[in-house]
Amino acid sequence: MSGAEGIVPSERVEVAFHALVSRALGKASMPDEIVLSVESLEGVPIRTLRALDVITQGVQDTLTGRAAAKAVLMKAGVSRKAAEAAIDSLSRGPGPSGNTMRGAMIVDALTGERLEPDRERGVRASRFDWIDEARTRMDQELAAAGLTHPRTREALALATKAAHAPGMVAELCWSDDPDYRAGYAASPALGYVRFPFLKEEGDPKGGRVYFVSREQFDRDAFLDYLQNEAVLIVRAGKCRGERGSETLPGLEKRGAV
Ligand code: AMP
Repeated sequence: MSGAEGIVPSERVEVAFHALVSRALGKASMPDEIVLSVESLEGVPIRTLRALDVITQGVQDTLTGRAAAKAVLMKAGVSRKAAEAAIDSLSRGPGPSGNTMRGAMIVDALTGERLEPDRERGVRASRFDWIDEARTRMDQELAAAGLTHPRTREALALATKAAHAPGMVAELCWSDDPDYRAGYAASPALGYVRFPFLKEEGDPKGGRVYFVSREQFDRDAFLDYLQNEAVLIVRAGKCRGERGSETLPGLEKRGAV
């Protein structure tokens, strides 16, 4: 299962369609099925955003990576208990039977309680893309910091949309791709903090966690923003290279601690 999407003007639908098919066919293994759909966004308001800034925090291994991610989440306003519970869930597989989910968990940033309506599937954010100029600029920024994997830019777009969800405190993500060990913690104030190692080589468990502030969280508004509202990223974020944890921006603690 893989997902790719974009927002394009109507005259570019056909080109985008072909690009998505080529992408699906270009994967290492031939897909059993390719499902493509086109939705009109006529009448849907489009919100424009600047991409989150990207900081890579150097860590030696999974253990130090997860400890550093926990520290970043706590700086963003997630309680120790909620951060530890979420890291534990992702490492065991967040689905009901230890499986990975198609979407993200929603977690109370204070208590660690799970709030997503469907525990099997999670919540999937959709309808976000870059305008060409911002995408090109962001690729240059990322490449200058040595980040050339297209995954990083895609995850950054998703994290940028998610960071602006009403009631969002922070996000934690590492991939379920067994060969991809990097992950990130993100928040509107801290930006996208990338860690080269959040899991071991060959580990197929991963997922995403959206930590929310219970007082500001309205489930319908949160889901509507992530699933239905369209977001175009019109400006690139700044990208700062490898840094140690001591150089992360110092933040007032916000929300639930
Ligand atoms: P990936 O980084 O694509 O390997 O995805 C890692 C995990 O993030 C997946 O296992 C899903 O749980 C979750 N995920 C993937 N895509 C989305 C999305 N569009 N919205 C929310 N969660 C997602």
